[in-house]
Amino acid sequence: MIIDCHGHFTTAPKSFRDWRAKQIGFADDPVNAPKKEEAILTDDQIREAIENGQLKLQKERGSDLALFSPIAGLMSHHLGNERTSLEWAEVSNNNVYQVTELYPDNFAPVCQLPQSPSAPPKNCIPELRRCVEELGFVGCNLNPDPTGGYWTGKPMTDREWYPLYEALVDLDVPAMIHVAASCNCNFHGTGAHYLNADTSVFMQVLQSDLFKDFPTLRLVIPHGGGAVPYHWGRYRGMSLEIMMRPLEGLLDNIFFDTCVYHQPGVELLTKVIPTDNVLFGSEMIGAVRGKDPNTGHYFDDTKRYLDACAALDDQDRRKIFETNARRVYPRLDARLRSRGR
Ligand SMILES: [Zn+2]
Repeated sequence: MIIDCHGHFTTAPKSFRDWRAKQIGFADDPVNAPKKEEAILTDDQIREAIENGQLKLQKERGSDLALFSPIAGLMSHHLGNERTSLEWAEVSNNNVYQVTELYPDNFAPVCQLPQSPSAPPKNCIPELRRCVEELGFVGCNLNPDPTGGYWTGKPMTDREWYPLYEALVDLDVPAMIHVAASCNCNFHGTGAHYLNADTSVFMQVLQSDLFKDFPTLRLVIPHGGGAVPYHWGRYRGMSLEIMMRPLEGLLDNIFFDTCVYHQPGVELLTKVIPTDNVLFGSEMIGAVRGKDPNTGHYFDDTKRYLDACAALDDQDRRKIFETNARRVYPRLDARLRSRGR
């Protein structure tokens, strides 16, 4: 079985985006703001979006199931206020849930959290619990910078974040570290802000005792880990210098996806990072939608790169494509087993 750990509902209909624009326009006017019910999509709208989009590509490329979350760029926790973030998370998560109910064999739900720059992370716990305990979500996306590219909040290793980690550990769900859109024009969203965040959070964790405090907390760093695998030697040296411990200790808790859009990048990732810590991901349909003129294949068809990695054997591929995801996302494993898979 081939599990893609990284997919978003990027094909959500225009009406949904319009609802969000209206909601932000009325952020300070809750009486006239659009109602949550107005954001609900019909089953037909969802079928059209999914069958011509993610499901079609899933079948063409030969993967079986994707962990599916709301559009990351649109999470935009910096917009509006805590109330709008909560409503936006609720309607976005509900739509993702609806997709996974319509296509339970192809998608499993991952939630967005109602983060807001001025609100403590613990305020996200009720929505996290609703999604996981009531709706069967298997993970969440956690934004390390709810300010949208200005990084004025505290590092993810600050104790302010701890109540949320306690909830994640209690629920036994991992968090994918995932920023949203950038409102800082110095940082392009998917080209800079995403990769910066992946790298920055890894360094925050390196410098902390986060996993001493939460030995079972699991973080998935997407986009191939940003700059981390490429600079693994730098981080190994820094871990020894700053923390007097080998970097490899982090590998009980940190995992990287394969959203790296060229063959040499995937080869480096799988050579540097142990195969137990690599999860297949494509992030399709997302950051890069075109085809590579050199190969004629889609840049984000990452399964192709893994298939072509000569250094990987069948056991490595099985871990990357399936068993690592089941281990890191135990609620996904339980969901699949309950369906006989
Ligand atoms: Zn993503």
